[in-house]
Amino acid sequence: MVVVDTFICSDCGYKYTNKAEIFYFNEDFKELEVTLKLTLTLRNLSKSPLYGSAHEKYCPKCNEFIRTYNIYKNTNKKNLSREEINSKINQLSKTRINIVNIKSTSNNNGEKKPSVSSYMKVKKEDEYCPICGEKIYAVYNDMECPKCMKGKLNIQCRVCKIDRR
Ligand SMILES: [Zn+2]
Ligand SMILES: [Zn+2]
Repeated sequence: MVVVDTFICSDCGYKYTNKAEIFYFNEDFKELEVTLKLTLTLRNLSKSPLYGSAHEKYCPKCNEFIRTYNIYKNTNKKNLSREEINSKINQLSKTRINIVNIKSTSNNNGEKKPSVSSYMKVKKEDEYCPICGEKIYAVYNDMECPKCMKGKLNIQCRVCKIDRR
């Protein structure tokens, strides 16, 4: 079971799901997966050379969703630089604008095996759009719809439980 917030536009019906996700690269960096599939993910994380948590925010000025990728000391197994990680993510990400954060701490309390739940925490720090510099926010109730720009997004279900597949 995964916990998400779902928003629907009162005008055009646009639907947005806000969720904390996990991302990982496959062994040869040819694929980037951003997923909520927890059971599958654990196995893939142990093989992945680079993984971490991901979350999405919205810039109203650019009208774009921006995804942040958080990488931790112990999840950057090849010790890649921020620039290297940035270019790999930009090549493969479905989101056009991406933010890469490298944390100097490990994210699993010293445990050797990755624990999925430790990557699902949503980051509380302020973030800014890399294009226009505006502060960006997670989608919230009553936000103007990014699709039609007329309606408002209404929370349809706070903390809906969806089945993991
Ligand atoms: Zn912007
Ligand atoms: Zn709309």
